[in-house]
Order: sequence, then structure tokens, then C-alpha cells
Amino acid sequence: MSYSRIAPKRKLVQWLSTLFIVGLPFVRVGGESLLRLDAGSRTLFFFGTQIRIEEFFLFLIAVLILVFVFLFFTMVFGRVWCGWFCPQTTISDLVEFADRKIARLLRGNLLPGICRHLFYLLLAFLVSANLVWYFIPPSEFLHRLMTGQLGMVAGTSLVAVFALLYFDMVRVRRTFCKTVCPYGRIQLMAMDRNTLTLEFDPALKDVCIRCAACERVCPMGIDIKKGLQIECVNCGKCLDACRGVMAKRNRGGLIHYTFGLTAEGGGHPLNARSALLAGIVIALCGLMAAGIATRTQATMKIQRGGNGEVRLLPEGGVINFFTASIENRSTRAASFEITLPSPAGFRVDLLGPATGILVPPNANRRVDFIVRITPAPAASRVVELHLMRDGAQAAVAPVTLLVH
Ligand code: SF4
Ligand code: SF4
Repeated sequence: MSYSRIAPKRKLVQWLSTLFIVGLPFVRVGGESLLRLDAGSRTLFFFGTQIRIEEFFLFLIAVLILVFVFLFFTMVFGRVWCGWFCPQTTISDLVEFADRKIARLLRGNLLPGICRHLFYLLLAFLVSANLVWYFIPPSEFLHRLMTGQLGMVAGTSLVAVFALLYFDMVRVRRTFCKTVCPYGRIQLMAMDRNTLTLEFDPALKDVCIRCAACERVCPMGIDIKKGLQIECVNCGKCLDACRGVMAKRNRGGLIHYTFGLTAEGGGHPLNARSALLAGIVIALCGLMAAGIATRTQATMKIQRGGNGEVRLLPEGGVINFFTASIENRSTRAASFEITLPSPAGFRVDLLGPATGILVPPNANRRVDFIVRITPAPAASRVVELHLMRDGAQAAVAPVTLLVH
């Protein structure tokens, strides 16, 4: 009897998610990586948009989205993350696969040990470099590495992650999932009676022939027949093994993926808690989109200059002194201009360097200028200073023009 296996689907998911993680820094939109944190300019390049550290609320929303997506994913799909997407599991699978292949190909001589360690070193370098690419663009990485210009933080991180990964491949592997990984503990809190789990069908207990095939293939060394255990990473290897054994007896396997435990009446992925979490994620995404759409690329703060002095001019006008602090939040240098539309019945002039104000990317610049209004108004009046960039209004700041 033929039977379908979970393993090819899981492998495909692992390859695609690995390709996604490795390839993301190489995908460029508008000359920048799709996802990268530039420490120098304190800017997060986030899928085509740029978020500065000053726009902390957007950072916070991005983190909250990740947290709630993780909670939603865990509540609905349980430990599927561990077995199907987690880089630690993928690395463990890969080194076990390489161990088997190298041992088979180079049987009977000293080379297997050396080849295995060379493979671990290469993989550790690739994974640690991939991590650094989320901070330094891949196009710059190699040149900076070869010329020793990676920087203290990036260089130390690269070496530390490389060493940890090598140690992980040689000594730790799945022990990490069983003992240290905090996600395994957190997910137990997030799971409920509707969560997807893998279970040995209790109704088919008498059909089990106690062949132990499910135990032998389990990478975590557990027996699924004893029920849900914290070590299970939902990889489905036991399910495939049992299906194989049972197919020879012309019947289906005894281990299944199920939403909720059968003994507890089962469950459903669409329920009040999952709907609530999905709603929170959608609301946060909406908030993020609105925050990005309405944020400014530049800010302008105005302070009184000239020690607050106000001067009446002999010809009838009045002048006020100001200092503008202009912040260019974009990652490109920009030329700004401060303008002030003349109120009806008055003529307003800005005296000083109010045009062609060059501000480097992610930098501030202070500019002193004078506002002359003619004739002098009878009373103080509030007017709006406009900060223009490339002919478009970038910011507005109200100021009070005093008359004495
Ligand atoms: S019990 Fe099954 S699904 Fe869980 S880790 Fe072991 S083989 Fe994978
Ligand atoms: S593989 Fe299936 S039949 Fe064999 S021991 Fe496990 S559950 Fe029982």
C-alpha cells in the first residue's frame, strides 16, 4: 500500500525558509537591503521603508508585531516552528546529513573526520556571515573583512557567532532544543486545547505492533506513544516511520497531526483566542502602515535668537531673531529652504541663510535667521514657518512675531 510522507514537505519548507533568511539581505529596494539595521546611521531598512531610531514607536510596533505573530503561530501550529522553520533544527539536520554522506563516501580512511570538521567550519562561517549581512550589506562585507575594516562590534560578533556555531555543530546540536532553548518553554504557555500537535492515536493502541520504528527515527530520542512531550519538535519523522510500517500491513499509520488532543475531544484552529491574536496582529500592522505613511523625513524646531531681542525699524517694520534646528531623517543629504508666506496686508522677508541649507543624512543643522515684517503689526501675531525640501513641504513650525 502506498503512503504519503511528511519528510519531503518539511525539507521543502526548510529549504525555502533557509533561502529566505540567506537571500533577504541580497534583495535590494531603492538601493538598500530589504531588511537591515544600519548601526552607523541608526536606521532600520524595513521592506522598502527606513525607520530611524528616533522613531522609536515604529521600532516598538515592529517588535510587537513579531511577538504577536510568534504567539499566534505557536498557539495555532504548536512546535511546528521548531521542526520546520527553526535554523537550529535545519543546521542539526544538515550536519547529520553531511556526517552520513561523508562517512559513506570516504569509508575506511582518515579523511571523514577532517572533511566533517571542514564542513562544520564552512557552514559556521556562512551562517555567522549571514547574520552580519543584516547589519553590513553583503556587497561591502567581503571587502571590509579582507581589509580588516569590519569594525569592532561586527568583527567580534562574527568571531563569537562563528565559534559558538562550530561548537554547536560538534557538541551541542539537538541538546540545545531539549535543554536551553527558551522558546520550547514559552510555547507551552502559548499552546491550548486547539493547538496542532502530533499524537499517537489512543483509539488505535491495540493496533500498534510495538516495532519501535517511531522511537528509533526520533531525533529528540522520545517515545511519542507516551503522549505530548516538551522535547517533541513536531518534525513528523515518527509519523512517516509508522506509516511505512503500517503500509506493509495495508493500513494507515497510528500517529497523526491533530488540532487538539483526541482524548480531549479535539479542537479547531479558528477559535476565539486565535481570532483575538490575529486581530491584534492586523491592528498592529495597520498602525505600522499608518505610522510609516504619516511620518516626516525632516523636522524643524524653532527657538528665539538674538537673546529674544525685537527691533523696530525706522521705516516702520519690525524684526525678530530666530534659530532653527533642522533634522534630516532620511539617508540622503538634502537641501532645505525655510519660507514664510506673507500674511494679508504685510510683507515678510527672511534674512539670513534661509535657502540652500545643506544637511547631511541623519544629521542636524542649526541656522540663525531674521524675520522682518513690514509694516509692524499692531499686536504680536503667530505665523507659520515652512521647511521645504525639493519644493515639497517637509515640516511646519509656528512662531510668534513680537512687536515690542
Ligand atoms: S516524537 Fe515524532 S515529531 Fe516529535 S520529535 Fe520525535 S520524531 Fe519528531
Ligand atoms: S511505528 Fe507505529 S506500530 Fe511501530 S511502535 Fe511506533 S506507533 Fe507502534
